[in-house]
Amino acid sequence: MKLYELGIAEAQEGLAKGDFSSAELTQAIIDRYHAENEKIGAYLTFDEEGALAAARAADERRRSFDHSTIRPVDHFFGVPIAIKDLINVKGQPCTCASKILAGYVSPYDATVIRNLKANGFIPAGRVNMDEFAMGSSTENSGLGVTRNPYDLARVPGGSSGGSAAAVGGNLCIAALGTDTGGSIRQPASFCNCVGVKPSYGRVSRYGVTAFASSLDQVGPMTKSVTDAAILLKALAGHDEMDGTTPPEPVPDYVAALDGATLKGVRIGLPKEYFAVTGLDPEVKRLTDAAIRACEAAGAELVEVSLPHTEYAMAVYYIIAPAEASANLARFDGVRYGHRSAAAKDVYSLYTKSRAEGFGPEVKRRIIMGTYVLSSGYYDAYYGKAQKVRTLIKRDFDAAFAQVDALLTPCAPTPAFPFGAHQDPLTMYLNDLYTIPSALAGVCAASVPAGFTNERLPVGVQFICGGFEEAKLLRISKAFEETQK
Ligand code: GLN
Repeated sequence: MKLYELGIAEAQEGLAKGDFSSAELTQAIIDRYHAENEKIGAYLTFDEEGALAAARAADERRRSFDHSTIRPVDHFFGVPIAIKDLINVKGQPCTCASKILAGYVSPYDATVIRNLKANGFIPAGRVNMDEFAMGSSTENSGLGVTRNPYDLARVPGGSSGGSAAAVGGNLCIAALGTDTGGSIRQPASFCNCVGVKPSYGRVSRYGVTAFASSLDQVGPMTKSVTDAAILLKALAGHDEMDGTTPPEPVPDYVAALDGATLKGVRIGLPKEYFAVTGLDPEVKRLTDAAIRACEAAGAELVEVSLPHTEYAMAVYYIIAPAEASANLARFDGVRYGHRSAAAKDVYSLYTKSRAEGFGPEVKRRIIMGTYVLSSGYYDAYYGKAQKVRTLIKRDFDAAFAQVDALLTPCAPTPAFPFGAHQDPLTMYLNDLYTIPSALAGVCAASVPAGFTNERLPVGVQFICGGFEEAKLLRISKAFEETQK
């Protein structure tokens, strides 16, 4: 196996055994980046010198440890991780794939980056995304095209498309993505990765550029469920800089995988998710096969109902743009990035900088969000959407009173060709299966479930209740075993 093909667990084992150094591992990723990135476009920028310096420092630290007393999983000294370009890493660009943040350099580390570094990971390379995480194909990036490593004529999904393409194309060991309505899970499904959207509040968002603050979560995108557990364990936990993160200690997600089984696990199949028209027949075939694999491995299948599913898209496309319109007000040409050269006064500085800097989808969201929040419409749209969101959350509570997890398709189709969804609405429909659980704040994962007859990867989604990541990962791991 080539070094760039390794996942986190394998890389760590090799590092602990002294098979290779972190500098060699990091160099292998950099070489791979030079060989493949022009074709795939996963990375926007890569601070090679910085990554190698961190790798050499990691090698130094690892040499000074007594490996006879430390298990490989205890310390991850020097494994490089690709970072979605909306997470701040001190001294590196953070553009959110937007022209408005051209030239912006982060003055501080996000909490997730501090956590990564404290666990011996190296933030290495900035990966592409839909501008400000708005989209499902990475076609909304203002800075570059990312291609699906399994078929270069197709999109990698989005918004964490660069993360997914980097993992799926072996341009990194693992990556961080963010998920607001599906942006970790859908691209993971398109690029044959494991992607975990943690429960709302599980991972700090301090230093992560906000899209929709009542939904955003950072999570791992990896080559295996074990790697997702390792990375989530490093990321998760209380942070005094993010009041949504509870103070309770984080379970050991890696230890939770020991003896993972589907025996006796109650898996719910939400009937509304399978009644949807537009589910691609190949995705349906692979989802059915996944259901049968769970059953064969001892799971008990239960039909459940999430009756408010049909309202989830409408609710999301009120709440997410509303929050985005407020969050993106800070990009005004004064404090960050692009400043219009044509500005004559303060007002035109704001309007021209924003008009020049934001792409069309971001503008669409800001306009929608401003509209639903405007006086006279607030109660009719935003207030009502919040109430329906509560009903959607209660659907999940009721389902999880009956079952351990839900199994659903992750996305209605496999990766689609560039330009396939010109109409924003048909693009939005990609997140049909991932949006309701995001609104409910529960945790969910996309796990590879095989390939279509056109050799495109497809993932299935497991959903568990809030803060049940240990259970989610155990079930995902046991399912992963059935696919070998
Ligand atoms: N595709 C959805 C959107 O465009 C979700 C994006 C996300 O999860 N960041 O809003």
